[in-house]
Amino acid sequence: MSKKTEWIQQEINNLQTAGLYNRIRTIGSPQGAWLTVDGKQVLNFCSNNYLGLANHPQLTAAAKKAIDGFGIGPAAVRSIAGTMTLHLELERRLAAFKGVEAAITFQSGFTANLATIPALVGKEDVIFSDRLNHASIIDGCRLSGGKIIPYEHCDAASLEAQIKENLAQFRRAIIITDGVFSMDGDVAPLDKIYAVAQRYDILLMVDDAHGEGVLGKGGRGIVDHFGLHGKVDVEVGTMSKAFGVMGGVVAGNAVIVEWLRQRGRPFLFSSAVTVPDAAACIAALDILEGSTELVDKLWDNAKYFKAEMKKLGFDTGLSTTPITPVMLGEAPLAQQFSRELFEAGVFAMALGYPTVPQGKARIRVMISAAHSKDDLNKGLGAFMNVGKNLGVIG
Ligand SMILES: *Cc1c(COP(=O)(O)O)cnc(C)c1O
Repeated sequence: MSKKTEWIQQEINNLQTAGLYNRIRTIGSPQGAWLTVDGKQVLNFCSNNYLGLANHPQLTAAAKKAIDGFGIGPAAVRSIAGTMTLHLELERRLAAFKGVEAAITFQSGFTANLATIPALVGKEDVIFSDRLNHASIIDGCRLSGGKIIPYEHCDAASLEAQIKENLAQFRRAIIITDGVFSMDGDVAPLDKIYAVAQRYDILLMVDDAHGEGVLGKGGRGIVDHFGLHGKVDVEVGTMSKAFGVMGGVVAGNAVIVEWLRQRGRPFLFSSAVTVPDAAACIAALDILEGSTELVDKLWDNAKYFKAEMKKLGFDTGLSTTPITPVMLGEAPLAQQFSRELFEAGVFAMALGYPTVPQGKARIRVMISAAHSKDDLNKGLGAFMNVGKNLGVIG
């Protein structure tokens, strides 16, 4: 092996020894309640396909039709020749859905954060950031060059204490929080955080990737959930989760959206989502605006599954959303639990350190409107058997 890459192989070996090497499963079917994983038919408890839209006939039909009208690729960055009528229609529709002044779309939720934070924050500024914010927020913060000051998770009092202590030393400030935290399924206290932001007249940004299509009326998101319309300056989101497609969005204050069209670097220097993506996202909005049926079913399923898991004696942690952590403690137990579930035909991911804190390893179950009651009962049966085998429940 070449000397200059030896260290990389060593690092990979270290990951393998520590049980932290990421073995990626291959899916051989569309997303849905059931998947073909590594050739085996399994119940899907892993995807962010909250509403079952990833293979919805209305979305696939819209994508095919758009390809016939517009082709596939945008062929240039948006600011040169890559903004199609479909991209603008999607942005108008997203703004209307969210009840905000304006919206701008990006290739992904990840690039939406990389675009937004450096456009709003510079070296002289400070970012107050929830300790458990998503990696894309953290990277956006680092890229901005601003001073990052973490506050305790979901703790508005800790946020205010940090603001009091530090604000005066900086030119401008922003508060950034995830909406729904993906590891625990808990929701940021956005009403309390907004009250602090307002008291100090600081910009407020929320990343609602796991809240869109899930929280609020008909899935309108965390701002709607808390009734904070017109009060949160920047709402970042993704179309890769409940929307079942791909793409990022920033919705909110019109002047901020206009500024991102001028200064959002992933917008200026990377091409937009493709034609079928944009068309499928619009079709997802049609479905969400047409009826709350899927969102209601998602919550019914989530409530049922959680209540039954508690009856079996499992600890489902702090979650108040369809994200259902099953707390197991040590990582090897969580991994063995996940393997035995897979053998029983249930695909559910084990999460350990450093994704979650030491000693807080878990299986994370992602509930979807695509699941039938029968699917959930099959899943519960497998959890019961494996839980008893491994002595997790009595
Ligand atoms: C999933 C997620 C993202 C990334 O979204 P993509 O569209 O997949 O890039 C960003 N932020 C949060 C909080 C997320 O959960």
